[in-house]
Amino acid sequence: MLILGMGVQAGCTVDMRNVEINLGNFYEEPPKKLPIRKFDVVVAGGGTAGVVAAIAAARQGAKTALIEVKGYPGGTIVEGGTALHSFYNLWKAFPGVKKRHVVRGIPQEIIERLLKVGGTSGHAEMSEGYDFDSVCTAIDTEMYKLVTFEMLVEAGVFVCVNTLLTGAIMDGSRIKGAITESRSGREAFYAKSFVDCTAYGDLAAYAGAEYTEPNDYPVVNSIGVGNVDIDKYYEFMKSHDAVTQLARGWRSAKDGQIVRLDGRRVNLPSGFSRGAEKIGMSMVTTTVHDNYFMFIKLNLKMPVSPTNRDEVAKAELELRRRQAKAIELFRKYVPGCEKAFIARTSPKLCIRRGRLIKCDYDISHEDVIEGRHFDDDIMAYGFHDFAPRFHVKNGGTYGIPYKALRVAGIDNLLAAGMMITSDHRAHMSTRNTVSCMGQGQATGTAAALCASKNCGTRELPYTDLRKALENADVYFES
Ligand SMILES: Cc1cc2nc3c(=O)[nH]c(=O)nc-3n(C[C@H](O)[C@H](O)[C@H](O)COP(=O)(O)OP(=O)(O)OC[C@H]3O[C@@H](n4cnc5c(N)ncnc54)[C@H](O)[C@@H]3O)c2cc1C
Repeated sequence: MLILGMGVQAGCTVDMRNVEINLGNFYEEPPKKLPIRKFDVVVAGGGTAGVVAAIAAARQGAKTALIEVKGYPGGTIVEGGTALHSFYNLWKAFPGVKKRHVVRGIPQEIIERLLKVGGTSGHAEMSEGYDFDSVCTAIDTEMYKLVTFEMLVEAGVFVCVNTLLTGAIMDGSRIKGAITESRSGREAFYAKSFVDCTAYGDLAAYAGAEYTEPNDYPVVNSIGVGNVDIDKYYEFMKSHDAVTQLARGWRSAKDGQIVRLDGRRVNLPSGFSRGAEKIGMSMVTTTVHDNYFMFIKLNLKMPVSPTNRDEVAKAELELRRRQAKAIELFRKYVPGCEKAFIARTSPKLCIRRGRLIKCDYDISHEDVIEGRHFDDDIMAYGFHDFAPRFHVKNGGTYGIPYKALRVAGIDNLLAAGMMITSDHRAHMSTRNTVSCMGQGQATGTAAALCASKNCGTRELPYTDLRKALENADVYFES
């Protein structure tokens, strides 16, 4: 009461919940015995990187568990993005440079499985905007969930969906176990090696790793828009001289169809472009089906990090308001979209970066744009989301080093995905889907090798990792 009174006197708004917490009003949880499950490798987070990590670990013979809070695998690749950037180098922007398929292995296998079920545009060549990416690889996000789920099971992964990772059991600087919560109760997953693919670095944070929360991107909830006509949308853009990106590929089982389209907002009718600007709507869309746009992104910059539950709640509501406004704009201004509707939204807002986890090496922007390779490369990568302003030199590739995936200060934890790389410009490259998938393959493989050798991530001989990755069709340029 005294604190509350002082706040009112000083003219501040006092949050009663904070006052109560400050008065030391806590509930002390009683200790509880948890059942233990034992594995060689535990992968936390079954998203873009985690799916590939778990398959890779299991294929190395490791007894592997995957812990995923949602009811399906996929993560942001099925909820946020448009096309998967990028399996290729930026060859089209650099005359004379050879076309190179630089990410292969399990990520490419997923695309091949999707092709068989009509779940991807394939690697469709960009005919406009190829100074940004040379190809557009669009996916049917629902088929992606199914195909990857089946691949995990085929590989022998113990897939725990609807299971939240809630803590780490430490033995000095080694993780002994991960604590999980599901409707089957609280459990302890013991393992020799761990891979954090939770995007937010939850496992690393629970394990006491160093991290920051840069909050350097807007949050997004993308919509899938149904009952639309992409060919008419293209004509509309073209008639306003607005087309900036175009690719043709497989759509509804027919080749040569528009599968990617982006446009200059400012060239479009002012009611549309001003409305779009107000709700942070980006124009780029991809599709693998007639009558469907995937996705239209609504962006919102939050004042604080997206780890703040109460601020996230406000953002979730505001993004849903923006989604409704976006549909109104499409119906009103875009021919072929008069009866458009929201066919899907993400179960929660997406973010391009949550926590930034400190690793043994931090990939710099110079590493990316100079196309540097390392003596411990685990993959090659050639896409930059700031292109054409920034791109990898001469349409080449840079290497992601193994040391960039080792969580600093923890002996048996690797990290893959959007949680690595501090420099925002470098992160605009490393965080993209195909890079995350490649990192997943490397971390899963390395974790399995460490488990079989009973060693920490820093004791693993690079030659062993390289050999295992090459045997699994991972492509290297150094
Ligand atoms: C709006 C948006 C648009 C984008 N557009 C593109 C694009 O067009 N092309 C492109 O290449 N890239 C794009 N990106 C970037 C790319 O999609 C992401 O950086 C990448 O998918 C991240 O992969 P990840 O494996 O790090 O995380 P995710 O794919 O998000 O996987 C993390 C997984 O961990 C699970 N998880 C989290 N915490 C826990 C926990 N405590 N317990 C259990 N499970 C947990 C989550 O449910 C999720 O499945 C976009 C990103 C966003 C946000």
